[in-house]
Amino acid sequence: MGAIAGPGDGGTELPRPPAPGHDLERAQRAVRELLLALGQDVDADESLRDTPARVASAYAEMLTPRPFDARTFPNDEGYDELVLSRDIPFESVCEHHLLPFVGLAHVAYLPGERIVGLSKLARVVEMFSRRLQVQERLTQQVANWLVTELDPRGVGVVLEAEHMCMSVRGVRARGARTVTSALRGKLRNDARTRQEFLSLAHSGR
Ligand code: ZN
Repeated sequence: MGAIAGPGDGGTELPRPPAPGHDLERAQRAVRELLLALGQDVDADESLRDTPARVASAYAEMLTPRPFDARTFPNDEGYDELVLSRDIPFESVCEHHLLPFVGLAHVAYLPGERIVGLSKLARVVEMFSRRLQVQERLTQQVANWLVTELDPRGVGVVLEAEHMCMSVRGVRARGARTVTSALRGKLRNDARTRQEFLSLAHSGR
């Protein structure tokens, strides 16, 4: 994803994420098969009759980000301190188990030539979380997007999430949170800036 450079305009239009193709009827048939294979008699049990359709549309929803306007703007005010959006709630789907993982994202950047609307930081997290994911990659993708689109002096992304595949099966470590981070530029190389970000991201708890 590269920014399309516009000469001296008020904002640069960026490409939208591709809308994934969903075949709901096919998904529905597959869920029905899954349930039958697991010994659940979908056809005999009246209360399960609509379950395949519900599951298919629930997954379609979890795998579809809302489109958003990812325009960036020139940093005319020359703002050069940390911009941080903390406690952004997100939901994603673990690509290994097709179970959700949910948590909070803390996203920061140290502006250079360009800035982005504050609410857009949450939408960037959504864009990459509403697809089959692993938390490590999701963290990197959010950081990479900011590096590519804003060319900032630094980027910091911390994600903390509970994975249902760890809570309700396997080790059953309910309440355990997995924390991942991606630090770029000054937030990686400069100890003072990195510390400022990490303490801001974790204050209030
Ligand atoms: Zn998993």
